Amino acid sequence: SDSTPLTRGLPIPQGISKNAFLTAISELQSALGSENVVLNDKELKNGWYMEHPNTHDMMPLHSYEEFVASAVAYPGSVEEVQTAVRWANKHLVPLFPISMGRNLGYGGAAPRVRGSVTLDLGRRMNKILDINAEDYTCLVEPGVTFYALYEEIVKRGLQDKMWIDTPDLGGGSVLGNTLDRGVGYTPYGDHWATHSGLEVVLPGPEAQLLRTGMGALEGANTWQCFPYGFGPYSDGIFSQSNYGIVTKMGMTLMPNPGGYESFMYTFPNDSDLASLIDIIRPLRISNILENVAQLRHGLQTLSVKGFPRTRYYTGSGPMPEPVYREHLKSTATGDCAWVYYGMSYGPAHIRKYKLDVIDAEFHKIPGCKKIDPKTLPADEYFWSRDKVASGTPDLEELKWVNWMPNGSHIAFSPIAPIQGEDARKLYGLAKKRHTEAGIDLMPAFCVGLREMHLIVEIVFDAEDEGMRRKAEKCLRDMIDDAAKLGYGEYRTHLALMDQVAGTYNWNEGSLMKFNNQLKDTLDPNGILAPGRCGIWPARYRGRGWEL
Ligand code: ADP
Repeated sequence: SDSTPLTRGLPIPQGISKNAFLTAISELQSALGSENVVLNDKELKNGWYMEHPNTHDMMPLHSYEEFVASAVAYPGSVEEVQTAVRWANKHLVPLFPISMGRNLGYGGAAPRVRGSVTLDLGRRMNKILDINAEDYTCLVEPGVTFYALYEEIVKRGLQDKMWIDTPDLGGGSVLGNTLDRGVGYTPYGDHWATHSGLEVVLPGPEAQLLRTGMGALEGANTWQCFPYGFGPYSDGIFSQSNYGIVTKMGMTLMPNPGGYESFMYTFPNDSDLASLIDIIRPLRISNILENVAQLRHGLQTLSVKGFPRTRYYTGSGPMPEPVYREHLKSTATGDCAWVYYGMSYGPAHIRKYKLDVIDAEFHKIPGCKKIDPKTLPADEYFWSRDKVASGTPDLEELKWVNWMPNGSHIAFSPIAPIQGEDARKLYGLAKKRHTEAGIDLMPAFCVGLREMHLIVEIVFDAEDEGMRRKAEKCLRDMIDDAAKLGYGEYRTHLALMDQVAGTYNWNEGSLMKFNNQLKDTLDPNGILAPGRCGIWPARYRGRGWEL
């Protein structure tokens, strides 16, 4: 629904009185301008993807008031970010930095600790600081979205020369998505691997400012060309962590490949999965399949049409296979179990070689069909994948949240090798847990280079407490089942971070011990995003915050 009341009142962070907190807030208002520090003391407004809230998660797994901010601050410069960090250290108020806060499915803009002050960097720090058309690089502030970067390249007349890489939805921050190790669908789809150089404000009381890689060398003109610089490669500790606030990031841009062509294949049986994955592996590793390509389940092909589930089925429990397959018959994709979306890059003669190899290999699966794009209407989802895989931001992917009323989604997203046997095991455990929970299973395998991310988005009604509980149980069971088989998640929702971090526990949790050491050194007062990715500062650790 549009808004929810704050039944628990102003969410004051734990350990500080209301008066002390309000005094601290007015101090921050004097430093940043009163219009740039806003208390969250009214109702919670939900909106939608493009007009999303920055105070809480509009797709919550628990109550809206669990992961909720006490106030939102809008710094306008690096100095103001430093001011906020010093302020937080002085008053021991937790800060939660976001860039755009459109990280829906992973917590959106919400802080992990109730009452944190959200530092919304995107609103005022949103400049494209540089686009270098010779080196094919750019330097961006947190508020630069994939749309904004794309539009700027078009505006400068550079689109024939260079592409950006965008995730399924283009409204996120280039910097925020990269820090959370999100992916896109051109050959530059691994955003973390293609970034170069960070500028970071550290969370300690001095709010020290540093630049990584070549940025540490005064006057270097290679900050965006060579990511490593000299000495330990420090960028890694600032991704999926709570060790710093990133204020600038360098990103590489892809040369326009001189042509591209999307293709789509369908496969008739659920059981084709394993053999298909084994066909994909050598093609992907040798770059015949050139992008992070998607193998999607038939049911997802139906849900992305954007209609509610009830249009097709009103029974309880997962929609039976014969039901959705019957409905698929009347779609452009036809009756099928799996759909493969890919793109080939380069001029026609280069593409032809690759597409011929792919066609011969895919046809080893009996009943495999290539769908001719010319037969597809302009509003077919295929064309959205076509845009995204050629670096044009889009929003079509949002449509499947209409599957449920108050449609919300949270993903189970384990990593596996590109092996049929692993795909079969993961699909099997997801199916078992979805059947138990009575939830529709809509898996997609996103094939990286030597691994695949299985993305299972659970679509649920955020206002239905019973369904939220079922979704949470299903997610937690899948995480545990997968870990027992040796699979771990690449990213997760705020509510599941402790559990996922707990599965990375080799040698008595030595990795988390190391993470905790870093946390205590860099953030001695524990003010920055406590609990993010399962990392708790000493002040919180082992005191009942873990979920
Ligand atoms: P999106 O780009 O999808 O809108 P966000 O801006 O919400 O995503 O960023 C995703 C997550 O990454 C945030 O929840 C936050 O934890 C982290 N993050 C985003 N921006 C920064 C930043 N500038 N410094 C540190 N962490 C950040």
